[in-house]
Amino acid sequence: MINKNVLKIIIIMLLLIIINVIASSNQIVNAASYSSDINGIDESKYPGYKDKINELKKIYPNIQVFYTGLDWNTVIENERVHSRNLVPKEYGEEWRCEICGDKTYDSGWYCASDSAVAYLMDPRVYLTNTGIFQFQKLDTSVRNFKYRCN
Ligand SMILES: [Zn+2]
Repeated sequence: MINKNVLKIIIIMLLLIIINVIASSNQIVNAASYSSDINGIDESKYPGYKDKINELKKIYPNIQVFYTGLDWNTVIENERVHSRNLVPKEYGEEWRCEICGDKTYDSGWYCASDSAVAYLMDPRVYLTNTGIFQFQKLDTSVRNFKYRCN
């Protein structure tokens, strides 16, 4: 006969395993993928990308888009944790976190505002002739680089 305490522990462990399986099944990970079909970009999902990438494609004809499979709102939410992203003191108030205000981190940096994080995380900001290179896959040549699209 199994001791009641041992039985309780087994039941609790089984519940924890079930909860863990259910919780992990909600974290659907979409596979990342590359595409060279720039015109196939869904403008409702990625507004403003197609024209900018097509413009860059005139210079870099073999450009490819890398879909991370990540949800934009989830990414931004994770980056907006206070003090995870900092801005220099010289930046204006619009760059500073509304909650942390003048509190400094890491020897004089301010916590970044939500709008600053969203702006700097937006790949469209970097879809320029020079900004695009920060997305270059390092094992590709300039003529064949791949672009990361969220
Ligand atoms: Zn903050």
